Amino acid sequence: MSNRVRTRFAPSPTGYMHIGNLRTALYTYFIARKNGGDFILRIEDTDQERYVEGATDVIYKTLRLAGMNWDEGPDVGGDFGPYVQSERMGMFKEYAEQLVKAGKAYYCFCDKERLAKLHEADALGAMYDGHCRDLPEEEVAAKLAAGTPYVIRQKMPKTGETTFHDEIYGDITVENAALDDQILIKTDGMPTYNFANVVDDHLMGITHVVRGNEYLSSAPKYNLLYEAFGWEVPKYVHCAPVMKDAHAKLSKRNGDASFEDLIAKGYLAEAVVNYIALLGWAPKGEEEIFTLEQLIEEFSLDGISKAPAIFDPVKLKAINAVYVRNLPLDAYIEKIKPYLDQAIQRTDYDIRVLAQVLQPRTEVLPDVIDQVDFIDALPAYDNAMYCHKKMKTTEESSLTALNAVLPVLEAIDDWNVTTIHDALMGLAAQMEVKNGWLLWPVRTAVSGKQVSPGGGVELCAILGKADTLCRIRKGIAQLGG
Ligand code: GLU
Repeated sequence: MSNRVRTRFAPSPTGYMHIGNLRTALYTYFIARKNGGDFILRIEDTDQERYVEGATDVIYKTLRLAGMNWDEGPDVGGDFGPYVQSERMGMFKEYAEQLVKAGKAYYCFCDKERLAKLHEADALGAMYDGHCRDLPEEEVAAKLAAGTPYVIRQKMPKTGETTFHDEIYGDITVENAALDDQILIKTDGMPTYNFANVVDDHLMGITHVVRGNEYLSSAPKYNLLYEAFGWEVPKYVHCAPVMKDAHAKLSKRNGDASFEDLIAKGYLAEAVVNYIALLGWAPKGEEEIFTLEQLIEEFSLDGISKAPAIFDPVKLKAINAVYVRNLPLDAYIEKIKPYLDQAIQRTDYDIRVLAQVLQPRTEVLPDVIDQVDFIDALPAYDNAMYCHKKMKTTEESSLTALNAVLPVLEAIDDWNVTTIHDALMGLAAQMEVKNGWLLWPVRTAVSGKQVSPGGGVELCAILGKADTLCRIRKGIAQLGG
């Protein structure tokens, strides 16, 4: 195979996408795209206990939503398939047998009882004692012929050290004596995850293996497998975990948000992707807002941190706000429409003006809900709200202002922000009063709110002429006019 860079994302279908997993996917994708290589999707579904119906679709959906397209995978095919691990199960045993022939693996006939005793005796409970490592060939042949159940184990060197290189952690050396003769093929003839993973990566021509650093301790075993086969070792990129705080990993099982949850909570996929890319990777400059294309450009392995990253919801929100503000108005309207429809019964309000005033006030999409609670009906409000120190308004002055405003607004034929604005500014000039002195009472009368999105002019435009006039008349009445 050529030197073409090939990376793979190998998620297990669990039904949701961990933030940490999505980050792995992103880095894997960046490496492929940056180098003009291939990004491969392999579904590792052999852990049947964790199997969840429809979970593969969640993976497709998430990757698409995040903007990642894969060159090979279960749905798009490719020359290195199948891309679903459970469909590859038949192909591993012969590879293990190759290793047996080469003296790098061996048949182990130890039964459950013996292994259980071994377990009890060994305080650490983990290591196989090598009982079948050096069985005479005839004995092995006889047992096989007799149909004795067996597993195939990797023959770890007993002495010396194994060193492998990780792109993030550098050279890592372990004592071979500490490595267990791990099982490669189980009694049922199926591979263990560790074995299948290595063989799959080799057969698929994977050049960079990006994964969580919980796999770091397995890496020497993987490395010895590549060496035993005489296969080229891929570049390892182990990423530190994404933490909820200094002590706990971020975990969906503990109720932390998955990617889908964040989208459902009104975060924009692009913003979440941007933020997740920054979890444990630092760009060279100060800039932190990047599109996916820019991330590919900016990304480099030397920016990846060895230290765990802490998921910071405040920063995510701030980044989301930047993305929301940068949306073209129509796109913003499309995003908030479901929330508006949920919060507002009326359909005759001016959604464009509303969106214009809401957009700078939206960090996450559901923020709009509480801000539009005055549109269907005028909330009950206290007259004290008419009094604004800075605008120099009182209840009395507000009554005067509203009485002056009413006929001016009544006279407007073409009701929009510009005509309302011009009419009210004209009136303020004519009365020789400050704009705020006139607009504050309007705003109070039409919204009934201390804090409203937009000023008096925009609110009138949003509500429409009839409703505005009605609310202003109500205000006049409420002020005793
Ligand atoms: N299926 C494994 C997981 O989801 C992937 C490990 C790997 O990338 O090698 O954790």
